[in-house]
Amino acid sequence: MHPATATEKGTFMNELDHFQEAAKNPEGYGKNLKASGRPVIGCLCSYAPEELIHAAGAHPMRLFGTKEAIVNADGHLQTYCCSLAKGVLENTLTGRLSFLDGAVFPHTCDTIQRLSDIWRLNTDYDFFADVVYPVKLNTQSALDYTVDIFERFKKNLESWSGQSLSEADLTRSIEIFNSIRDQLAEIYRMRSKDPACLSGSLLSSVVKGSMILDRDELPERLFRLRKEIEEGRYAVPGNERKKRLIVAGSLCDHPDFFSILEESDGVVVWDDLCTGSRYFDETVDIGVPPLEAIARRYVERRRPCPAKHLSNTARGEALAAMAEEHKASGVIFFLLKFCDPHAFDYPYLKEYLETRNVSVTLVEVENQLPPEGQLKTRLETFIHML
Ligand code: SF4
Ligand code: SF4
Repeated sequence: MHPATATEKGTFMNELDHFQEAAKNPEGYGKNLKASGRPVIGCLCSYAPEELIHAAGAHPMRLFGTKEAIVNADGHLQTYCCSLAKGVLENTLTGRLSFLDGAVFPHTCDTIQRLSDIWRLNTDYDFFADVVYPVKLNTQSALDYTVDIFERFKKNLESWSGQSLSEADLTRSIEIFNSIRDQLAEIYRMRSKDPACLSGSLLSSVVKGSMILDRDELPERLFRLRKEIEEGRYAVPGNERKKRLIVAGSLCDHPDFFSILEESDGVVVWDDLCTGSRYFDETVDIGVPPLEAIARRYVERRRPCPAKHLSNTARGEALAAMAEEHKASGVIFFLLKFCDPHAFDYPYLKEYLETRNVSVTLVEVENQLPPEGQLKTRLETFIHML
């Protein structure tokens, strides 16, 4: 066993253990938090305005799919829906999310929009909200509209929680989330500089854990974790000599993918994943009215979700700049089967990146990775070509 991940009867020996445990068992963590008296709100997607939920005294917890068999969700969703949507629905219909007080559905891709209706009609949690974002982002009216929908979301939270949200409450939450984002970005920068300081699978559990752990404690936890990484506790010598890569896609809830990649002589030095840097990219301005500041982060983000529109080339430009900044020679698109927004973007992104001498490959997964041998052969072939 890796000495840094050893636990004795649940006694955590390292800060990293907290992240790994939460990533392994989000429902167990949510249940305990709820038992301690904290309301828990499930969040779909990186467009859920977590600061508002936190300011209302609730815990925003990202929902993931399941590795269990899909039985109940198949009665509600077509077979051509992504495994994330099916997994989240399966988890709620089987009662695995019974600790939740409710959920918030940002309107991004069609699947999440339809999932929202199915969820509302088939569950009886106390709280439910849709946050209906504009599709086109870079206009003044998109910003004004987003501030309006946040006003409405704030009112929903106020009438549910029975307490009003002051500017001071919102500013305090923004500061906590900014600190979390800054520290996750710093860990990514440390790893881009020295990919041997932490394995890709452990890094993925740090980001996933950050979407689950108590945000009031998280800034301190991340600070201590950074110290542990700096001390070399998680060093994986040899990673610094591997081919530098970027992974792009929606969700990657498969830590093994990063291990297989490292065994294949590649190492991810940055990503464009909703379970990666898209969770923490860009902070919220302080000194601007809080709702406007939170809205600006979403409408002005340089790497929007493919279900949103900034410009025809925004994602390609952002990925090419990312590859250049982090000296990556290839991009692996990690595509969940039936994820239309990402699938539609792929041909253009491949062409755009290849004309800029960045090699591209596609790995398509459902709720399980392809067999390890098969995946390893494909990754090795791609990496040896670079
Ligand atoms: S790809 Fe878009 S819709 Fe899907 S989780 Fe990410 S931000 Fe949300
Ligand atoms: S963006 Fe893709 S992976 Fe995310 S919910 Fe929509 S279809 Fe599923």
